[in-house]
Amino acid sequence: TEVVYLITAGEVIDSFASVVRELVENSLDAGATRIVISLWPQNWRVRVADNGWGMNLDDLQQAATAHSTSKIYSPDDLWKITSLGFRGEALHSLTTLADLEILSRPMGGYEGWQIVYNDSGEILEKKVAAIAPGTVVTVDNLFANYSARRQGLPNATQQMKAVQGIIQQIALCHPHVTFQVSQNDKQWFTICPAASVGKLIPQILPQIKPGDLKEVDLEIPKTESKITLVIGLPDRCHRHRPDWVKIAINGRMIKCPELEQTIFSAFHKTLPRDRYPVCFLHLTVSPDQINWNRNPSKTEIYLNEIEYWQEKVTSAINQSIRISEA
Ligand code: ADP
Ligand code: MG
Repeated sequence: TEVVYLITAGEVIDSFASVVRELVENSLDAGATRIVISLWPQNWRVRVADNGWGMNLDDLQQAATAHSTSKIYSPDDLWKITSLGFRGEALHSLTTLADLEILSRPMGGYEGWQIVYNDSGEILEKKVAAIAPGTVVTVDNLFANYSARRQGLPNATQQMKAVQGIIQQIALCHPHVTFQVSQNDKQWFTICPAASVGKLIPQILPQIKPGDLKEVDLEIPKTESKITLVIGLPDRCHRHRPDWVKIAINGRMIKCPELEQTIFSAFHKTLPRDRYPVCFLHLTVSPDQINWNRNPSKTEIYLNEIEYWQEKVTSAINQSIRISEA
């Protein structure tokens, strides 16, 4: 069908980091507030455990079949995406790229189930499992049958750096969630929930002190739209990094060159050229304002009425610069 055709154009799973992103986004879509990520890079194994609303046995049996998403109902819905998953492809792809096992117990359910899937996402093994409500996905022997893909990847240390980067990006978009990450059974890092993203950033950029940051939240009257902007004034925050500008939209880190340009020029109008901003911008807009098809990876977007948003962002930046200078 048309829905199937559209979602297969999604991004590919080509690294540890993309596996982690897919699994963590599923946890967030399931309403998780605590996500535990365990990595065993030498074994090509990763496990993501969450306290989300879980799956009942029926859903669990379907989860890894081709194009099984619980999140899209018609082609139209694809353009009104509010959940992070919108392809129904990740778990199915993982059955072909790795060994996949999922344990899940729905919120309010009496029992959990453990399912091991075969290469086509069908059930290989199924048994009752004792777990707390939520879901535990284990991906093992990643790319075992794709030696070229394995060889094309950087070494384990660099891959783990990429994983850390992905988790940090996701955390910035979901500051109320706890991320606990281990490597080879040893605690690696934890991102603690914060009341706002401004309070979370110092955990990710240790050279930034909480007092260096200003946060502005702008609700756009008569709409559901919202702007959250956190800035660090360059003269106080400029340490080692040349710049640090991140943009998210509706819970997802994205690229939008027009908005990046706006951020840089707003800063440079008021501040010396050799100073660089620390800036995190999170827009909440109606999903039909976003065009995700700017590039195949769906990370770069076009935003409708871009001039309107550029103007809003400029005034939010000017406002927070005034607050900082007051
Ligand atoms: P998508 O996220 O695009 O829907 P996936 O292949 O990533 O597709 O997941 C398939 C389905 O499995 C999801 O739609 C969801 O119903 C279910 N699922 C996957 N991970 C979880 C999870 N951690 N908690 C609850 N349900 C999940
Ligand atoms: Mg998904």
